[in-house]
Amino acid sequence: MNDKEIVSEFMQVKQENDVIHILVRGISWPQPHEPVSSWKVASVLPQTSSPQEVDFKVQAILENKQYFQICQGCEERNLRGWMHNDGICQGCAEKNHGVVY
Ligand SMILES: [Zn+2]
Repeated sequence: MNDKEIVSEFMQVKQENDVIHILVRGISWPQPHEPVSSWKVASVLPQTSSPQEVDFKVQAILENKQYFQICQGCEERNLRGWMHNDGICQGCAEKNHGVVY
């Protein structure tokens, strides 16, 4: 997945009331094999923000390790909830380290 796909899949820009909300999808695993996703507001911008300012913020969130991390195995950016740990994604954990999800 490239960054553009990640943004369209895992992020939303919503205009609500007088502000612009940038939402990021969070994944949690209450049970194995059953990920639950929920949208969280990652950033709030004034309604007067230009599209460039919104893009800039989206990019900053993409690079924020609180939300996304780059896997050292496949070097893909992953949603934090899809990471096995700080270093590798679940796909790589499964493939290379015998972890089964
Ligand atoms: Zn990986």
